[in-house]
Amino acid sequence: MTKTDLKNFNLRELEQFLSGKGKEKFRATQIFKWIYQLGATTFAEMTNLSKDLRTELEETACISTFQQTVFEEGSDGTRKYLFTLDDGESVESVLIPDEGRNTLCISTQVGCAMRCEFCLTGTFRLKRNLTTAEIINQVCAVKKDFEVRNIVFMGMGEPLQNLDNLVRAIEIMLDGNGLQLSNRRITVSTCGLVPQMAELGKRVTVNLAVSLNATTDELRNRFMPVNQKYPLKELLQACRNFPLPSRRKITIEYVMIGGMNDSLEDARRLLKLTSDIPNKVNLIPFNEHEGCGFKSPTQAAIDAFHKYLIDRHVTVITRDSRGGDISAACGQLKGRLEKGPGVDC
Ligand code: SAH
Repeated sequence: MTKTDLKNFNLRELEQFLSGKGKEKFRATQIFKWIYQLGATTFAEMTNLSKDLRTELEETACISTFQQTVFEEGSDGTRKYLFTLDDGESVESVLIPDEGRNTLCISTQVGCAMRCEFCLTGTFRLKRNLTTAEIINQVCAVKKDFEVRNIVFMGMGEPLQNLDNLVRAIEIMLDGNGLQLSNRRITVSTCGLVPQMAELGKRVTVNLAVSLNATTDELRNRFMPVNQKYPLKELLQACRNFPLPSRRKITIEYVMIGGMNDSLEDARRLLKLTSDIPNKVNLIPFNEHEGCGFKSPTQAAIDAFHKYLIDRHVTVITRDSRGGDISAACGQLKGRLEKGPGVDC
């Protein structure tokens, strides 16, 4: 009999699982705390559960962890983790250290189906969704050694294509008996799946980042095939409708590609498109990778674009290309993926 991995349950589901075995509800809270706050990986450790319950759980359930983890450390302190999954696939997570405010960038899929033209992960197509346990285990593995304050769903994959597991993982992160993270410190990034944006907002309260990357439908259709289904007008309306945590702003991610979308004309259009959306702009200079003809923007183009927006009172952060020397920067994550057949959206 295969054992049930308790890391695939949010607290409510764990309660249901236990009540199906005739156990009291509060046992779920105890087990949740053992797993997420005390890092327990066996039932034997859970000393406030009766011996009988522990034995019964040993026989029917398990608590998965990532065993084989390799990491590389970049010159700037960024750490890239490679986790091997049970079926031999792998995923990457990136820890971006910052005094007392470490951010962990995590993945939701093996590969990605969205085929954005500039993104390395996308060229490997989608292998499969991660389970809830595989999403949450990225955090649990890193948390053993580092305090993780912020979570960004900006690793491999399109989080909103794996909505159920994404939401369940977020519920575990937010739960007072779980990882106890604040909803102001969790950000889901999407390429712009409009119906799923609304669904996410209905189910949990978290920050949203949208990878805009172009200011005309013509260019965005080319860069990001998802735009052919959900064009700019619909995407921006979905941003306006999104229920953020209080006093938070939507992050507009904008990958600047040399000579393609980095002119002041683009900056002007970006300002106009987003003027009635509470937002901050995250400029991400394109990271070059093999097999992609695009170029990074010049420093002068980045500075001019940045200044244009700042001068017009937009909050702008130009992301330094952290982790570049270990291929941990945006759009460079690929696990151990090989090019080959996969699934498209
Ligand atoms: N699928 C989600 C989550 C991935 S986030 C999304 O699209 O938002 C990864 C971010 O890196 C996205 O903003 C993407 O536009 C950006 N990106 C992809 N390839 C890149 C590259 N080569 N250089 C810089 N940024 C890149």
